[in-house]
Amino acid sequence: MENQYRKETICIQSGWKPVNGQPRVLPIIQSTTYKYDTSEQMGRLFDLEENGYFYTRLQNPTNDFVAQKICELEGGAAAMLTSSGQAANYYAVFNICESGDHVVLSSTVYGGTFNLLTVTMKKMGISCTVVDPDAPREVIERAFQENTKCVLAETIANPALVVLDIEKFADLAHSHGVPLIIDNTFATPINCNPFQWGADIVTHSTTKYMDGHAMCVGGAIVDSGNFDWAGYPEKFPGLTTPDESYHGIIYTEKFGKAAYITKATAQLMRDLGSSQAPQNAFLLNVGLETLPLRMERHCANAQAVAEYLEAHTSVAWVNYPGLKSSRYYDLAQKYMSKGTCGVISFGLKGGRSAAEKMMDRLKLAAIVTHVADARTCVLHPASHTHRQMTDEQLVEAGVAPDLIRLSVGLEHVDDIIADLNQALKAI
Ligand code: PLP
Repeated sequence: MENQYRKETICIQSGWKPVNGQPRVLPIIQSTTYKYDTSEQMGRLFDLEENGYFYTRLQNPTNDFVAQKICELEGGAAAMLTSSGQAANYYAVFNICESGDHVVLSSTVYGGTFNLLTVTMKKMGISCTVVDPDAPREVIERAFQENTKCVLAETIANPALVVLDIEKFADLAHSHGVPLIIDNTFATPINCNPFQWGADIVTHSTTKYMDGHAMCVGGAIVDSGNFDWAGYPEKFPGLTTPDESYHGIIYTEKFGKAAYITKATAQLMRDLGSSQAPQNAFLLNVGLETLPLRMERHCANAQAVAEYLEAHTSVAWVNYPGLKSSRYYDLAQKYMSKGTCGVISFGLKGGRSAAEKMMDRLKLAAIVTHVADARTCVLHPASHTHRQMTDEQLVEAGVAPDLIRLSVGLEHVDDIIADLNQALKAI
């Protein structure tokens, strides 16, 4: 019955559901640990023989209620929160990859994800092949190897705003017997549910629209429960063979559709400990309650700002998937018919120096290393978030050196445009 609720209702009502006499609002369980009456019962928890909390590094009730809400919003089978979006992407991949394995990675992913895969995970013996998400199927096909274990891409790439052809990627991944992991941060489950189009696992930097107020760094992983790990036992031994650290349980046999998330919690949270603080999960939950309203306004404001910029004589180019001129317009209509996100990228005729000058003159829009919150903000990725990349990598990532990333907030759109207008006059 509850699954029939619309997303607006899920955002308010799902997760914490108080019974008679309980607090109306999600409580923050500010406790590292949990008490049990018998040592035997505690032992069963450690063997994963029984469900229950024993240490907040692995699981906390506040976090789990919020994860449950995100799970329902995505239409998944199981979910978990992580301390950051970086941790979410790391765990999502590392849960099914080990030294000697390989990942197919979209070139346009967020700079931090790109670095995680191409530098840090490489040091751990996990290699990746970077592919242009717009390349034809047969070109991307060549990136797959015997040891490929997953494909990782973003619904709407940050900051290139490339809209992924999710069905093309899901099909490619599945034809090679591996799951498609999608970072759905920019679209949010309000505007896109990648599982509907064949994705298997979704990640989020909840730091962005889900929190929505720039208060808490956080992440989430959701599993659709659809990928048949047991169908490829030789590829995913971590899920399909006994885990000696839990007395030989086999995740796929014991946990079914929750196998992947249970393994990530039981092994990765236990050993690496990127758990989200319950206080942050509480604030994230407050953000989630208004996500549908905010996404609608972010998209409407961004559409108006994108149209304003496109018509401005000092502006060389504008990329926003909601513009008819965007090469991603059709894909956006297909996968995100309600709207895409509030982020726009554009360049000025005066190039990089004009961009810097214009940004310095903005009064309402602030220069911050953030995106996707209530306040309008700007960033120059080539000088900031993506500064570790070479020019060649920048081009591959779809980040032109003159690209300005504008995250359109929830202020009145006339005020946002007036601010841009006065700053553009100065150049
Ligand atoms: N994924 C995307 C699409 C992002 O934009 C970001 C951060 O900007 C991340 C992941 C990393 O998330 P976090 O900053 O929460 O670690």
